Amino acid sequence: MGWVLYLIEPELLETLLSNEPSYRAGQLHEWLYRHPVQAAEHMTNLPKVLRDDLADRLWPFEVEVVQSADGGATRKWLFRTPDGAAIEAVLMGYPRRTTLCISSQAGCALGCTFCATGQFGFERHLEAGEIVAQVAFARAHLEAHGMKNSPDRLTNIVFMGMGEPLANYVRVRESIRRMIDHMDISARAITVSTVGVVPGMRRLAAEPWPVNLAVSLHAADDELRSKLVPLNRRYPLADVEAAAAAYFEAKHRRVSLEWTMIDGVNDSDDQATKLAAIAYRLHAHVNLIALNPTPLTPDLPSPPDRIEAFQAVLRRHGINTTLRDTRGRDIDAACGQLRVRKSAG
Ligand code: SAH
Ligand code: SF4
Repeated sequence: MGWVLYLIEPELLETLLSNEPSYRAGQLHEWLYRHPVQAAEHMTNLPKVLRDDLADRLWPFEVEVVQSADGGATRKWLFRTPDGAAIEAVLMGYPRRTTLCISSQAGCALGCTFCATGQFGFERHLEAGEIVAQVAFARAHLEAHGMKNSPDRLTNIVFMGMGEPLANYVRVRESIRRMIDHMDISARAITVSTVGVVPGMRRLAAEPWPVNLAVSLHAADDELRSKLVPLNRRYPLADVEAAAAAYFEAKHRRVSLEWTMIDGVNDSDDQATKLAAIAYRLHAHVNLIALNPTPLTPDLPSPPDRIEAFQAVLRRHGINTTLRDTRGRDIDAACGQLRVRKSAG
């Protein structure tokens, strides 16, 4: 296949166009990063010959499946790279924001029991360009089609698709750099979600950008957490909490704690009380998500009244908490689930 535009470091575009006038690289950069288009033929100020040359060299993947749900307010893409890796991204429109959830790895090696991506295992890291291309693709889509009742501009980017971003540190870092330096995306609009890769959290704290950090906790004592999140045996809760505290210190950005509500597993008042203590120490916000059931475990989401009771305990301790809506549940838009279904069937 040869080279692909989004896999080239933006700074090196010029070398690619050495036979063209020097302003060409600037024009191309504009189309790739500032006003992404779905196809090279839409790069209207480039000569036709060049547009034809670039036609098959724009995206590092093909669109294999597109699904939409919630009356068009949720759209999910399954992309496929030439070497067969699956990448998924989900676009979610709200009245005042349009959020894109992106993947950092094809699969994930960390094996959290309730996660479809984890159940499937690790395929490979995504390149920085493959991560950035998900953002550009969503922008091109919004530019062309908009989003009903939501801003037509991407307002938030969350690393909550497939993979553990901090286990692919260097490429994820580079993708964030490209978004900030080349795509006019503010660091404050970006959220990195981690299950607690402590060295990665510490490295991220030392970066110059105030990106948001979300820590997927799911359990508030080591015994339960090690069952749900195998990585907890390597980086136990106290270490994760210390790294989150250091992040807050360094960035003055409120960390959020993510908690997938699993019926009868981690939804007791006792867990809520322990979680409240951690959240209090971290000045953190707690995001609850009802479990999206996966094929490999019999686990179910906590019932609504249990979620309310859990939230009541948190609030009694002065903790801010929100229940994340399970967008696109009917299209498995939670975490790596479309892919499992495709491979299984
Ligand atoms: N690896 C990172 C980011 C990707 S997972 C992390 O774990 O944080 C993004 C979020 O989806 C995490 O908070 C994770 O706990 C949640 N998640 C995973 N599987 C889920 C499921 N089956 N139902 C609901 N949320 C799930
Ligand atoms: Fe990996 Fe996150 Fe899924 Fe755990 S929840 S297996 S870290 S993607």
